[in-house]
Amino acid sequence: MIEQNILITAETRAIWLIFSGEKVFQSSESSGLLITTWGALNFAHAYQEQIVRIGSHGDLPCFLIDMGNEHIEQNNLSFISMRALLMQSETSFFGIASRAWQVALFMRTHRFCGQCGTAMQQINWEMAVQCSRCQHRCYPRISPCIIVSIRHEGKILLAQGKPQRSRQMFSTLAGFVESGEKLEQAVHREVFEEVGITVKNLRYFSSQPWPFPHSLMVGFLADFDSGEIEVDGKEILEAYWFDPDKLPNIPPKLSIAGQLIQHTIEEIKQQKNITIPSHS
Ligand SMILES: [Zn+2]
Repeated sequence: MIEQNILITAETRAIWLIFSGEKVFQSSESSGLLITTWGALNFAHAYQEQIVRIGSHGDLPCFLIDMGNEHIEQNNLSFISMRALLMQSETSFFGIASRAWQVALFMRTHRFCGQCGTAMQQINWEMAVQCSRCQHRCYPRISPCIIVSIRHEGKILLAQGKPQRSRQMFSTLAGFVESGEKLEQAVHREVFEEVGITVKNLRYFSSQPWPFPHSLMVGFLADFDSGEIEVDGKEILEAYWFDPDKLPNIPPKLSIAGQLIQHTIEEIKQQKNITIPSHS
């Protein structure tokens, strides 16, 4: 649970996620988590009233402090970008770091009421901000995004969009869910829009928060149904059916895209024929 208005003392030992700009502090000696007492963080004491508890990791509480764009040099601390931190972190830490970053972004982008322009105030019983004038309340934004791995006759469909071009990487298809749309409808629509084919046998796989900036990736497996690959040329530049033994450069297993691809490859190799009815 996320809590604001936290009571702490100099002896309070915790995992600290302290953001400055797009970066987070970490210990110079050990990579990953910054674990210490509040008393050792003199440079952050001006932010005591803004500390947010974002959960716990192991038996330690996790606290967020957002310094916005204030840049502070500390001898025993270094800065690391959020992406680099998440790439070097164990999976169990991924969730808490993602949450901290999303809450920090929420606070930065909701300083004023979207309805009347008055300054927003923190609510102390839940993670939200509220306008004191018109009572408009806002919660941290979460944007659902479907991601789908498609197989057909022993091959997997992988595509390359603009972001993957510079790294020559191919990945699964993904896209944001539109207002009023079911997750399954979003899968069918995105696949057809991006590569011009239809799919069937949708199966829920897993989900993953992706804090750049506030996506919740919802993963599905699907089978090809009909059509010929025809990329849209905007979001997707190239897409092909790949043989599991001749895969291009693909995302790491840390990401849900990497996990979907790995699972599909295993299914293909085991020649599994899973038939779970589509829910759409
Ligand atoms: Zn207002």
